[in-house]
Amino acid sequence: MSALMIRNVVVLGGGSAGFMAAISLKTKLPAWQVRVLRSPDIGVIGVGEGTTVSFPRFLFDYLGLPQREFYAAAEPTWKLGIRFLWGPRKDFYYSFAREYEHTWPELRRNVGFFHDHETHWVGPISALMAHDRAFPRKPDGTPNFNKHHAFHIENQKLVAWLEGHARKLGVEIEEGNVTGVETGPVRTTGREENGVLALVLADGQRVTADLFVDASGFRSELLGRALGEPHLSYAKSLFCDRAVIGGWERTDEITKPYTTAETMAAGWAWQIEHEHFINRGYVYSSAHLDDEAARAELLQKNPKIPADRTRVIGFQSGRRQRNWIGNVVGIGNSVGFVEPLEATALQVVVVECVTLCDALVDCDGRPGPLLVDVYNEHNTRGWDEIRDFLAVHYAFNTRLDTPFWRDCREQTDLAGAARMVEWYRENGPTMLAKGVVMPEINVFGMEGYLAMLVGQKVHHRREFRPTSAEKRAWQQYKAQFGAKAKEAMTVAECLGALRRVGWLK
Ligand SMILES: Cc1cc2nc3c(=O)[nH]c(=O)nc-3n(C[C@H](O)[C@H](O)[C@H](O)COP(=O)(O)OP(=O)(O)OC[C@H]3O[C@@H](n4cnc5c(N)ncnc54)[C@H](O)[C@@H]3O)c2cc1C
Repeated sequence: MSALMIRNVVVLGGGSAGFMAAISLKTKLPAWQVRVLRSPDIGVIGVGEGTTVSFPRFLFDYLGLPQREFYAAAEPTWKLGIRFLWGPRKDFYYSFAREYEHTWPELRRNVGFFHDHETHWVGPISALMAHDRAFPRKPDGTPNFNKHHAFHIENQKLVAWLEGHARKLGVEIEEGNVTGVETGPVRTTGREENGVLALVLADGQRVTADLFVDASGFRSELLGRALGEPHLSYAKSLFCDRAVIGGWERTDEITKPYTTAETMAAGWAWQIEHEHFINRGYVYSSAHLDDEAARAELLQKNPKIPADRTRVIGFQSGRRQRNWIGNVVGIGNSVGFVEPLEATALQVVVVECVTLCDALVDCDGRPGPLLVDVYNEHNTRGWDEIRDFLAVHYAFNTRLDTPFWRDCREQTDLAGAARMVEWYRENGPTMLAKGVVMPEINVFGMEGYLAMLVGQKVHHRREFRPTSAEKRAWQQYKAQFGAKAKEAMTVAECLGALRRVGWLK
């Protein structure tokens, strides 16, 4: 048992990770003092606009934040999943619903087995995506939201809203540049470890706390620089290390209710849909393409991007060995990073915040050593599961025959995904792997793996011939999903409806 009862926390960093952590701590532990310290000179990353379903659940269910205020300030649009321009099919959809896993009464097997060359959508949500529709219409003309949606949000608007909300809750926000960190032994977890004694600011001020949250982004000031926690690279599975970003003001383009992920010569590009802006970013491997060539490819595909308004960001895929050491817990980019192919960064931040707050509530601010070890095990496993799943995107994409994609197909280390892929090759898109080859708790689960393996037409040896009755039933299901989708509301109609009822300016 630790001697120290944590009662005050300093969060280093005022990006989305820092404010999400501060809001979570102050909401779940209101008596604690929570301070955010951020640099007036080092800005936030300013990208990161796609989310997953965990994000709205975190904001509105876990934290109980007001939906209406969020809509008014952050101005999100809705994301039902990802449309992949990937592999041999023209495209395929990976929605947030469990569509490939599902078995309909008239069909002997789950939907994954029925995704033939005539199939464009595999369930009600992917049918909405394929018709550029977001939600069914309620009798009062407003959208009937379901739990299978996430958001597209501009990073700066999100951070500004989070900051305002943190202030309302009583989080103290201070400006200062950390230029030094005093380290030494701490017993926060009851086990003596090297920890942080104080942050030293440029003006000489010392900042102390019982617990420090490192949300300092890629700089990883505390976990990485001060405590020297090793960085484990994912480069054997994920070859990309740079992104060139640009976008344009929307004119008459339809606002898609999904993110698009498009295969490019040496990587892939996202398309993220905001109400007034379309954001594109080309994630590429610098070993295969230089910045100028990447920029030229992005501009050639997207002539509306102003050539002088692109920017390049470098990154390293990987994670720190541990998230929590002594009295320092990392959250966000300070712990790890993978490219946004599944838009997982904020999802990881959500899991990190929830597990941290739940742990601190349950131990009443006195974390023991095993609690911290299990916290680390849980959170580092989550990171590795994302790496594994992204590796499947790279190892099987046959769409282009460029040096980069040849290298991906030949050399991607499938890491923890290897057994699931081997299983799939032998058994096809069956659900029998659930809970055995595929753990019950996995960030993407069977649905994710089936979407990517079936979607990319990865070959398997389990031939399946549906009966004529099954073929007819499947056609009818698809026709029903399509007909319903056609009646649903577009993103623009949903935004208009929310404006009429005062949720949006
Ligand atoms: C190309 C790219 C695309 C991405 N797309 C997505 C996406 O679609 N979806 C998604 O979920 N995520 C995405 N992300 C990731 C996402 O942007 C971040 O994970 C998320 O915003 C969290 O960032 P952060 O708060 O950890 O760091 P940052 O936003 O970088 O914030 C760091 C904070 O630390 C402070 N700080 C740093 N050093 C000091 C110091 N010495 N003293 C005082 N303060 C300091 C800074 O002032 C700043 O406030 C993307 C990232 C990249 C690079």
